[in-house]
Amino acid sequence: MTESRGLVLVVEDERHIAEVQRLYLVREGFGVHVEGDGAAGLAAARRMRPVAIVLDIGLPGLDGISFCRALRDADDWTPVLLVTARGEEADRILGLELGADDYLTKPFSPRELVARVKTVLRRAAGPPGERAGRHGRLTVDPAARTVHLDGEPVELTTTEFNLLTHLLKHGGQVLTREQLLAGVWGYPSYRDTRMVDVFVSQLRAKLGDACPIRTVRGVGYSAPGAGR
Ligand code: CA
Repeated sequence: MTESRGLVLVVEDERHIAEVQRLYLVREGFGVHVEGDGAAGLAAARRMRPVAIVLDIGLPGLDGISFCRALRDADDWTPVLLVTARGEEADRILGLELGADDYLTKPFSPRELVARVKTVLRRAAGPPGERAGRHGRLTVDPAARTVHLDGEPVELTTTEFNLLTHLLKHGGQVLTREQLLAGVWGYPSYRDTRMVDVFVSQLRAKLGDACPIRTVRGVGYSAPGAGR
């Protein structure tokens, strides 16, 4: 038996879709557990501690949005890849605001799913060996993946943390939304850039006026460079 890349929890009520997801993830070396309704999925997440969750929005029992909210309310920051159908854009944005890390729109190719799961996991692991740094009232430790505001810990999702550290790492530069999608989410080309705005809003809501991210009108976002 080869070593597993970790357990992925798939919460999906359409059995044929769940089965395709399971097959492709298993082929890539992941362990996979499937649940067909939201409440059972949430119980499995708590019991099994998966490395990532592939979460359908439209679920019987507890929908994906409520699932995400319950997970984050319990301080569970397991990366969540949201699966949405066309026409569920409002739900998708809400899901991202509630702490999902990325999304896929049905129909998607199984290869796209595998690539997205690997990307959220790579991002969750973070870049090794970087030292903690102070940014105004914030202390950001990339290795420990912690942020403190005036000495108090701030809970950030994987993606919020990655967006913040990516902008800080490129301090003094203005990054376009497309560059941020590529650098933080790993998208090779244009995608819905409003996702970037959603996550910047989340960071501002959590960090208040200590948030170092500035909007550069008509271009993108920036954080101050070192020593500023
Ligand atoms: Ca469904």
